[in-house]
Amino acid sequence: MKKLIFTGCLFAAIAAQSASKYADYESYTGFTVDSVPELPAKEVHPSLWFKKADVAALKAKKDQDKTAARFWAEVSGSEFLTLELPSVPGIDDGKKVIHKYYGTMSQIAAYNAFMFWMDASPEYQERAIAALERAYDGPIKELDPKEKSGPVDEIYMGTWLQNYAAAYDWMQPFLSPQQDEAIRKQLGDECNRVAINLYEWADRPHNHLSKPAWGVGSMALALSDDPRALGWLGMALAAANDNTRYFFSADGIYREGAHYMMFSWVNFLPFMWNYYNVSGVNQFENFQPLMEWGIAVRNGKGWLPNLEDSYIRPFPGHMAAGMYKEASSWLNSSAPLSDILMWNFETTDWSPFEAYLEKTGYNYSGASWDFAMSLVEYLTYDPTLGRAAPDVSPTVFLDGGQTIFRNSWAPSDPAVRYLLFQGVAEADNHHHAEHLSFILFAENQMMASDGGYSRGTYSGKERTEWYNQGIAHNVVLLNGEAPVDVAEGQTPLSKHRMDTTFFDFEEKEAPYPNGGLLRRAIAFPGESYFVVADIVTSPEKSEAVQVLHGGRGAMTGAGVSRVWNFSDDAYGPASKLYTWTFGAETIENDEGESTYLKDDYGVFPYIKAKAEGKEITFLQILFPASTDQAAPVVESSRNGNQIWATVSGEGMADVLMVQPGSDKVEFQGLETDASFCWVRTKDGKPVEFAVREATYLKKAGNILFQSAELRSEARRL
Ligand code: MN
Repeated sequence: MKKLIFTGCLFAAIAAQSASKYADYESYTGFTVDSVPELPAKEVHPSLWFKKADVAALKAKKDQDKTAARFWAEVSGSEFLTLELPSVPGIDDGKKVIHKYYGTMSQIAAYNAFMFWMDASPEYQERAIAALERAYDGPIKELDPKEKSGPVDEIYMGTWLQNYAAAYDWMQPFLSPQQDEAIRKQLGDECNRVAINLYEWADRPHNHLSKPAWGVGSMALALSDDPRALGWLGMALAAANDNTRYFFSADGIYREGAHYMMFSWVNFLPFMWNYYNVSGVNQFENFQPLMEWGIAVRNGKGWLPNLEDSYIRPFPGHMAAGMYKEASSWLNSSAPLSDILMWNFETTDWSPFEAYLEKTGYNYSGASWDFAMSLVEYLTYDPTLGRAAPDVSPTVFLDGGQTIFRNSWAPSDPAVRYLLFQGVAEADNHHHAEHLSFILFAENQMMASDGGYSRGTYSGKERTEWYNQGIAHNVVLLNGEAPVDVAEGQTPLSKHRMDTTFFDFEEKEAPYPNGGLLRRAIAFPGESYFVVADIVTSPEKSEAVQVLHGGRGAMTGAGVSRVWNFSDDAYGPASKLYTWTFGAETIENDEGESTYLKDDYGVFPYIKAKAEGKEITFLQILFPASTDQAAPVVESSRNGNQIWATVSGEGMADVLMVQPGSDKVEFQGLETDASFCWVRTKDGKPVEFAVREATYLKKAGNILFQSAELRSEARRL
């Protein structure tokens, strides 16, 4: 092995020059990989994706199961195998023509080179070599990647490098010495140009730094005998680490959102496979938290949330599963992570992504013009893996700040109830003002919602004045402002977690810029509906606005109750979300835009519950239901800021209460000093209850709960 102690370029020195309000890219909880680059003693081809000895198995894979056959059909039917090589664009041909040119040429090279190993037809060889010989012709070096939304942005360059790295690796044994020398020079020059400009083109450690870095890494592996290769790889590892230590949480949350996770995946996933195959270095171990996050956060249809600048996304763990055959995971007591990732793959509802591809020509990768998706899917797919659902509690508390309330892991089951409670320390890219917001999925439909990325453009006013603002989220605004972090990089505080089979609970806390504080608790009574209990405090009399976006449905109702009626659409079947909001002085109807998939935007109703004071309490009931399911009977009363409600329906008689302090409160025959309380009765007798910060709970004078100090607990009697 060639080794070198490479002094990585830590971002701090460069970042210090920028005027960002964020300065600390070093101390967040994310992960890094070993930054010492390792190259093989001798360059061997092929080696990035497979070795000569693996070819027979790779050819046989297509007959092993339906999925392999499907990926094979996509590879062997790829347009890049027959498409005429496009002519060289001019510098003034515009973004679409120039960007597509490099994406297309590099994929023509990769697909044909791969197919030549599967089927030694000389046409594949000719086309692959022709594309490689023309690599990076045209205006690429004359265009400035720093030009905003330009045709040759560095975020595309990483993918082009990886396509050419694979193509060269596969064709090298069939090149004449003259062809080899010329192609190596072109690829090496471009790799070097990207490597030395990584920190020049990206002013922060976001995906614009790491995506090209992973591309440089793959090319360094393809040209490992080049004397510069060790330096390229070292630079790539350092730059990738600068991204992952800041944008990932220790438990795998990618803070730029699921869309940019996927957009980064198209680069780190190929690099990780290449590095393992060429040098034996296994970074999949470092990335395991991400793989587990993808499972933990998926809704009942397998979709990742559209929080931050994101659309809904599937989780593409099937491309990594083969590397986790021996990996035990907190998600399952016995099955390896590989099997959980394959369960995720098989239980994901792909229909909206397939329909979107059909309609627009864009796949879910975010890199449709560049990423050789079906090729990577075929190469990485392992038909021998098992399938295993998670067997851990379906309610998951992630220390990075996402909590997922869920009653079951069952896929595409209308009985599944899911609520994601968001409180992740904000990062400096693609951030939305969504602290302590939530999204709700039930009846196989996306209900209470996050507005999403935008209708289409990053810099448009619809995004900067709506989508990334607090008002487009299920947050509580104080004097128009959303909650913020206590300090940079510090996860909002979570407290009073409860996870039982009959009741789950968590409180998150976040301050306001004016010195106020939001204590928001989410409860999951009977694991069938949700309760939001807000306590807002402010140093001076202020206006609190509790925002509720029920989702992409028609809204009816008045007073304290609203119903969102969902019709059968791309995201789920007809269903309902019944809601009640207590504690407000007024509740206003409004409407605003929402996007789950790019360009599929629409205007939908939401409500703003308003109250003024220095101490404000809201109690909200969110009751998902099928179209023919009646609403429960919900009634409420209050004594100042102590609010209680009863929820009575089929098989259920619940009492709920929230108050800001620890005063004695009497309601519905109950007495407690809890700051939150839930009691379920059957035939008039209490059967289950939960309290937050209580020393006692009594029903008709009988003690249900007693503690010497304030305790938070759920109990079945
Ligand atoms: Mn958002």
